[in-house]
Amino acid sequence: GEADELRTLMEEKELPERVKEKIEKEIDRLEKMPASSAEGGVIRNYVDMLLSLPWTESTEDDLDILKAEQVLDADHYGLEKPKERVLEYLAVQKLVKKLKGPILCLVGPPGVGKTSLARSIARSLNRKFVRISLGGVRDEAEIRGHRRTYVGAMPGRIIQGMKTAGSINPVFLLDEIDKMAADFRGDPSAALLEVLDPEQNNTFSDHFVELPFDLSNVMFVTTANTVHNIPRPLLDRMEMLFIPGYTELEKLQIASRYLLPKQRKNHGLEEEQLSIEDDTLLKIVREYTRESGVRNLEQQIAALCRKAAKIIVSGEKERVSILPAEVKDYLGASKYRYGMAELEDQIGTVTGLAWTEVGGDTLLIEVTVVQGTGKLILTGQLGDVMKESAQAAFSYTRSKAEELGLAPDFYEKNDIHIHIPEGAIPKDGPSAGITIATALISALTKRYVSKDVAMTGEITLRGRVLPIGGLKEKSLAAHRAGYKKILLPKDNERDLKDIPESVRSDVEFVPVSHMDQVLKHAL
Ligand code: ATP
Ligand code: MG
Repeated sequence: GEADELRTLMEEKELPERVKEKIEKEIDRLEKMPASSAEGGVIRNYVDMLLSLPWTESTEDDLDILKAEQVLDADHYGLEKPKERVLEYLAVQKLVKKLKGPILCLVGPPGVGKTSLARSIARSLNRKFVRISLGGVRDEAEIRGHRRTYVGAMPGRIIQGMKTAGSINPVFLLDEIDKMAADFRGDPSAALLEVLDPEQNNTFSDHFVELPFDLSNVMFVTTANTVHNIPRPLLDRMEMLFIPGYTELEKLQIASRYLLPKQRKNHGLEEEQLSIEDDTLLKIVREYTRESGVRNLEQQIAALCRKAAKIIVSGEKERVSILPAEVKDYLGASKYRYGMAELEDQIGTVTGLAWTEVGGDTLLIEVTVVQGTGKLILTGQLGDVMKESAQAAFSYTRSKAEELGLAPDFYEKNDIHIHIPEGAIPKDGPSAGITIATALISALTKRYVSKDVAMTGEITLRGRVLPIGGLKEKSLAAHRAGYKKILLPKDNERDLKDIPESVRSDVEFVPVSHMDQVLKHAL
């Protein structure tokens, strides 16, 4: 009967002694149950689960460093630092056999290749690959499972991932570790901590499985958009590898060398059946996407491949080549105006630079002054910190009224309205301080702001400019939008070395330490 079937399955599998004993005990229990009882079903389900897990099965690592390097390069353009780190990891692995950590965490904006790099790591090592998303996981039981007594109990995602992997030593990607939440049902990060701890994870306990499970041969890799939301203890356990956004030139290389060949293949097109010139790709980068990574770019290229496939299959043409001027026939009118930079100098409008989870972006700040009673009106979904920045910028301006040639009581007779368009996106952080101050002063003094300038920096009440984060991402965004001059805090000068040469040669970077200098360059 059923019990014998399970026994045969068990004999066919190589199992550690303790697992065997447990299964035998359960099968004995099953035999004593009346056929088709509910409890019998629960036991059967449990034994099936135990039999489906990789207790001993493993794959042979390929520790040939040169070959690994070839695989990594074949899958991704650039990404030198993370690739190098992965190769070091393999080298050490080769020397010590069993490597205890560190856990690598790939951090960067969407579409820069974090998930696909992890997949490539598995390929280069010749290991199985599994991925689970931790986004929205808020319950410890999702990691560690439910006890069997619980109705509809299941193992947690770690064990389910191991089942999918079918080997005891996969590359296991924990995607979006920064999107994990905690609530009254318990903190999943505590359970995850145990998963990632090389001192404990050889006896990982899942509530459903009941038996300790060995995770010590797994290579865990995690990803995150930013490090801010990762709980401290987890952060301490991981080594961060940052993948910032790509420059236009890098995107072009990625598109022509990786995305286009990949999508052609996915769509069953031969190389000569679809050709897309670099100029065309550049136009797509500039006018059809606006992102730090290359995900939309890849989607646009996939769309071109679909349309080419249709043209070829319908017999309309034998081969398709797409010129820049023809892009709109395939993808519709362009979505973004290249060079978002203002077309003319303006009063009361200044471009700041923001750094969000999705990379850098430009941020327009508008100020209008109308007759009133001294109110400061802030609109456009500003966060609390940004509101404080606006207050500081306002106080600074008041204290400088005389120098700026403003009536000493200007603020009593006017309302000042500070607005940041694109209000659906919440904005916060102190780094718009100097931008707000500049817009304010421009609006009050009716002086024009140079259209080529973008800026970032926190402001103090005395007009000092304090350092900010994310300079590289912000610079890429400003460059993407076509700005020629970036004002940055003097204290961020040391970050300039991280900015790609292709950006530095196009944009003038001006370190400033006081508002006086900001105004000199911007107005
Ligand atoms: P998210 O944070 O949204 O999960 P991600 O960083 O995981 O984003 P992926 O899904 O890995 O992004 O990458 C998006 C696509 O871009 C994939 O098809 C990937 O192969 C491709 N890609 C990204 N970077 C590169 C690169 N440097 N070379 C080649 N292809 C790349
Ligand atoms: Mg991803």
